[in-house]
Amino acid sequence: MIVVLLLGVLIGAVINRLGTDLPARRPPQIPHCPYCGRRRPWYQWVALPAYLFLHQHCPSCGALIPIRYPLVELGLAFLFGFLYQKYGLTLQFVFFALYTTVFVLIAITDIERRLILNVVTVPAMALAILGSFFTGHITWKSALLGGVTGYVILMAIVLLGHWLIGPGAMGGGDVKLAAFIGLVTGLPLVIEALLLGILAGGIVSLFLLLMRLRSLRDPVPYGPFLIIGGWVTMIWGMEIAQWFFR
Ligand SMILES: [Zn+2]
Repeated sequence: MIVVLLLGVLIGAVINRLGTDLPARRPPQIPHCPYCGRRRPWYQWVALPAYLFLHQHCPSCGALIPIRYPLVELGLAFLFGFLYQKYGLTLQFVFFALYTTVFVLIAITDIERRLILNVVTVPAMALAILGSFFTGHITWKSALLGGVTGYVILMAIVLLGHWLIGPGAMGGGDVKLAAFIGLVTGLPLVIEALLLGILAGGIVSLFLLLMRLRSLRDPVPYGPFLIIGGWVTMIWGMEIAQWFFR
């Protein structure tokens, strides 16, 4: 378990770098301070221990390591620990941990930059097709049908949205994310995953609109909601469906 948690922190550190460098269209770089550009010393390459040992400020300019870094490392360690607890040391654990890593990376770029990058979603889709042969929770046919279904449903919603309120709320990145979610959850659970995500995003958006914190022209990024729906369905999809139709 300790190895799994440490792995979560380390992969979290890598995901943090990718989440910063990929949207800037540059290859992953050696950790450096975003304010003064100085390289970080080795003990700051992973932010969580740097924070724990009170080395959270850049030695050159004193800027704080952004709080997103330790939060992502901590969060991924927690999620990895949960998956290990639930699935043990199995191929299902390995692939679910990889899917979770992809989900967190997409959430970072979508929340911070409103970007869901092909360089992330396309390899992720290939990974999920491969995974459907090994995880045992769905068949490869179910995965492929789920991917196509996710793609088609989100594409329909995006086109409808453009027609009703103009470009904005969702885009091509969300469509590919939905295809990835479909490949992970399979058919028919992809429908549940998207419904959960759209419902969660809709409720939060409506709340922000009513509170006048956001406008229709300034929509919230939808990716994180789709991701929550996809991740929850990946783990508990069957239980939720059985409970709902009981
Ligand atoms: Zn600095």
